[in-house]
Amino acid sequence: MKPIFLAALASISFGTLAACAGEGGDAGEAVPITGEVNIYSSRHYDTDLALYEDFTRETGIKVNRIEADADALIERIGAEGEFSPADLLITVDAGRLWRAEEAGILAPVESAVLKERLPANLRHPQGLWFGLSTRARIIIYDKAKGAPEGLANYADLADPKFKGQICMRSSSNIYNISLLSSIIAHKGADAAEQWTKGVVANFKQPPQGNDTAMIEAVAAGQCRISVVNTYYLARYAGGDAGAKAIFDKVGVIFPDQAGTGTHVNVSGAGLIKTAPNRENAVKFLEYLTSESAQRYFADGNNEYPAAIGLKANSAVERLGSFKSDTLSVADIGKGQAEAVRIFDRAGWN
Ligand code: FE
Repeated sequence: MKPIFLAALASISFGTLAACAGEGGDAGEAVPITGEVNIYSSRHYDTDLALYEDFTRETGIKVNRIEADADALIERIGAEGEFSPADLLITVDAGRLWRAEEAGILAPVESAVLKERLPANLRHPQGLWFGLSTRARIIIYDKAKGAPEGLANYADLADPKFKGQICMRSSSNIYNISLLSSIIAHKGADAAEQWTKGVVANFKQPPQGNDTAMIEAVAAGQCRISVVNTYYLARYAGGDAGAKAIFDKVGVIFPDQAGTGTHVNVSGAGLIKTAPNRENAVKFLEYLTSESAQRYFADGNNEYPAAIGLKANSAVERLGSFKSDTLSVADIGKGQAEAVRIFDRAGWN
């Protein structure tokens, strides 16, 4: 081992969860700590922490975690190489899971439990990663101006009748890259490019702001139409009076209900090829798809549980029920590079 790696390892400080396993406290249910699992995660919700603690209490496996931006984590695991302590990468969006796959840091997992609990389109076909919760990318509109006539599908966003009415966030954002990637998968690159140009021609303003800014711009009447992820809007639906007032001003359209269904993406996890605690990592993955864990995991960010047969929380349900696109999320990952080129050519910054 080269000194540089020793230095790198020494500098790693995991946030260890102070699970009370082994302390002989409440209910006496806790199992003594007998192992650990190291998670590199770009998710950071308080409910996730409670979830990790429950896992430790049940199994005696301590959960250590490092949190950072997904691209930084993928790069770090690659740089750590065979000495990486990482067992699992948890991140959001098929695009980032695809980047991890491309970086060659994931290893396949064969698990009957995961196959049974998760629909095939929400997991990698070779088991390189597994979707744990989903979010839909929906069209929103300013209710004060009325429901935009003829706006039912993503394709309609390119209709010239919506000229000057649409606000979008930047194309560098992975949510839009994945949405365009799904359009490429369904309709081909040429049709996707025509669509992109049509939407750009309808822009009210140059792309700016995040999904939250889009919701507030629509609620304020600054933009008539935009596209956002469901969990951002659900935050308003389940928020305080001020947030609810904003939610009430925004209309929701789940696109493509008469066709292929609304584009959905995942938050997911994959086993790291060099995982030092492989068995514990698979156990943790399986645990994340259990009903109670799915509750925490999905609720932490107002998402839909990925496991078959489970419902979202009441704030999310308030957005309405819908038919989701069953396109394999793995295929959405594959179209990323093409989507970026199309955005560039269309001038969607
Ligand atoms: Fe987000």
